[in-house]
Amino acid sequence: MICPICRCGHTRPGFASVTLERDSTTLLFKNVPAQVCDNCGEEFIDETASTNLLNTAEAAVRDGVQVELRHYAAA
Ligand SMILES: [Zn+2]
Repeated sequence: MICPICRCGHTRPGFASVTLERDSTTLLFKNVPAQVCDNCGEEFIDETASTNLLNTAEAAVRDGVQVELRHYAAA
């Protein structure tokens, strides 16, 4: 698709790193499936992936995780 941010680049399938912070929990996810703009580098996380990340973050908050690096794994 055409990048909605810069409006001249095209997005291509790739991977992004995502940081989620909530209360005292910080999670860094690597290898999250995303569409990446070849012009401005903006990353658009897939909807299923972002839902999955939020669920994982909720669980981490409940477990009292403070800082963690995880590799994204499709549920
Ligand atoms: Zn762009």
